[in-house]
Amino acid sequence: MSPQHFALAWSVLFASALIGGTALKLWLAQRQQRHVLAHREAVPAPFRDSISLEAHQKAADYTVAKLRFGLWTTLFSAMIVLVWTLEGGLHLLNTWVSSTFGTALGGQLALLVAFAVIGALLDLPWDIARTFGLEARFGFNRQTPRSYALDLLKNTLVSAVLMLPLALLVLWIMQVAGGWWWLWAWAGLTAFSLLMMVVYPLVIAPLFNKFQPLPDGEVKTRAQALMQRCNFALSGLFVMDGSRRSAHANAYFTGMGAARRVVLFDTLLGQLSPAQIEGVLAHEVGHYKRHHIRKRMVVMFGVSLAGFALLGWLSNQVWFYVGLGVMPNLFAPNHALALILFSLVLPVFGVFFSPLAAATSRKHEFEADAYAAQHSDARALGEALVTLYRDNASTLTPDPMYVRFYYSHPPALQRLERLGALPEAAPNSTHTPATA
Ligand SMILES: [Zn+2]
Repeated sequence: MSPQHFALAWSVLFASALIGGTALKLWLAQRQQRHVLAHREAVPAPFRDSISLEAHQKAADYTVAKLRFGLWTTLFSAMIVLVWTLEGGLHLLNTWVSSTFGTALGGQLALLVAFAVIGALLDLPWDIARTFGLEARFGFNRQTPRSYALDLLKNTLVSAVLMLPLALLVLWIMQVAGGWWWLWAWAGLTAFSLLMMVVYPLVIAPLFNKFQPLPDGEVKTRAQALMQRCNFALSGLFVMDGSRRSAHANAYFTGMGAARRVVLFDTLLGQLSPAQIEGVLAHEVGHYKRHHIRKRMVVMFGVSLAGFALLGWLSNQVWFYVGLGVMPNLFAPNHALALILFSLVLPVFGVFFSPLAAATSRKHEFEADAYAAQHSDARALGEALVTLYRDNASTLTPDPMYVRFYYSHPPALQRLERLGALPEAAPNSTHTPATA
């Protein structure tokens, strides 16, 4: 095959993946919508005592509204990828930037920045519509236009401070490190992300939220007893003012090693009893004790190493650029172009791997639940889950195929079934025969 044939074959492969992936997403959303609406009129039997029909229907309506919104963002982003690549958008931008700023390191950085800024501007209207339209309509949004604008400003500044030096570092490595640049660039990015695990909770998160030590009380005593029981070192328990932005509740662990901290959203404290919060925390400890965090990191770093190796090879292939609608500079570096094209291509093919990632994640959730059931009260965790499903308006009746592709957590019914089936959960757990 001649180089032109390679480029053409690559164009066709890319366009097929983009169209196929988009069609797949629309099909899955369609399935989910049909499934949720078909179950809208009745609360599933196991939840009849804990979730009202009204709450169930709100969850259905919220799910459908999110799907319809997602339909437009899916189509829009597919169109944007198409415009950047096959329609020649990136080629145009590159021509303009390189004739204005040159093709040396500064010009390369300018191209990355221009691409990132345009991308952010294109996303902004959607994010505004999501926050003040969709989320507000279902009573979840707590942001005012003013606080939203302030967040946006802070986010932009923080990204600039962090990302500009990082981008410059990668571009510089690409320029000076020769054929093995991708290995060095990967090592640099890996070191950066490890550093961020420590820096983020201590420096960046406090810029956006207030963190206060968990006040004395039953939640704290229970949490401390649990950590002791599980032999889990912790540097602190904090409450975050999540209610400033959203009514959605959450809890998470952050940091590494002895710098680990537990963060509870204030919204969670308002919704759950101390015993239920203990169940949620036991689940989170389970993720650590079953080595999910470490496994996830190893997989992430392994996948990114493979990605960088692939990029190292692709960046030297003229067909990679030409097939995506860009004429590479023949006598100047194409580093920024290669990075941008790669970032556009990855998600297009990534969709097809999402069931793999989602399945692993769901398996981990079951394992963390099992750990929680062993070291805490499975029933309390079950109640907590039901409350969170209700208050976050998460549907209880998702489409199984949609779950397979997107759900990082098993559906409510499956999780509760497993929790209840554990011997620790109910001492006399004999399965009651189904009545005919
Ligand atoms: Zn989990």
